[in-house]
Amino acid sequence: MQQTRVAQGTPYYLKFVESYPGIADLARADEQEVLKLWQGLGYYSRGRNLLKAARQIVDDHDGVFPSEYHDVIKLKGIGPYTAAAIVSIAFNKPYAVLDGNVYRVLARIFALDLPINAPNARPVFQKQADLLLDKKNPGVFNEAMMELGATVCTPQNPDCKRCPVVPHCKAFSKNLQNILPVKLAARSVKTRYLHYFLIKKSSKILIRKRKAGDIWQGLYELPMMETSGSELLSIYTINDQFDTKTTFLKPINKIVHKLTHQKLEIVFYEADMNPVPAREMVLTDAKGLKQYPLPRPLELFLNDYLCKPDSFS
Ligand code: SF4
Repeated sequence: MQQTRVAQGTPYYLKFVESYPGIADLARADEQEVLKLWQGLGYYSRGRNLLKAARQIVDDHDGVFPSEYHDVIKLKGIGPYTAAAIVSIAFNKPYAVLDGNVYRVLARIFALDLPINAPNARPVFQKQADLLLDKKNPGVFNEAMMELGATVCTPQNPDCKRCPVVPHCKAFSKNLQNILPVKLAARSVKTRYLHYFLIKKSSKILIRKRKAGDIWQGLYELPMMETSGSELLSIYTINDQFDTKTTFLKPINKIVHKLTHQKLEIVFYEADMNPVPAREMVLTDAKGLKQYPLPRPLELFLNDYLCKPDSFS
């Protein structure tokens, strides 16, 4: 559910647990199958990490989810927040959680003006959270802190009148509740220009797997070229870049797709690249395409394209 609304994530969750009812079932799955189930939800590293964590649990813990913080935090994709939430709520271990809501509540209760997203913020806020933690009921305490932030001590206009901790709140006593917490300016959004080529061979198209180190790792896409500007590509550029003898290139669709820190301006072209750029390409027909996990904009484009009567002729 990281960065995802519950309503959006629930159908994926249900599909996921139906496909993998137990940890061992998930550990046996292959990555492509997991990413396919995740298709459209974004943040694909979550799917890859769940798979790796399931394999760690099978290999290192005989398939039983560990109950100690130091074991849980070693699982792929689990950071301090999730580890503390799991061991406190599921195993009643005394670890305080620190999520966005808890940062805000702590900043206000203790009137801390250290920016909550500053690099040195975590240890300072963690210390305050640990001091407050009810060690006999850590799970209930953690859920209460998160709920307080989500329902009463909200980002704008906190409802101090019905807040159960108002007598202890320094921000309230100093009338700072609408000023705290302090936050450093958000990272700027980068614009990228991606050009995708629909290359038809008989009744098939070419796709390839995306590499590590960038968005959509492990998902499949059409052959692609990235440029530093928004201008459309020419046949000359394509031939130069891919060392092909392309004679036909036609832009057929242009879309903008937004990620958290990136804006993608995407142009789709029909092209007759010849010879085709061979690097790790897969040739697939419309039916075969269904087994490959695709990034959302590619999925939408290809679904739309496949609806056209002569799309794969
Ligand atoms: Fe938040 Fe107001 Fe409660 Fe303080 S009194 S914790 S600012 S809701």
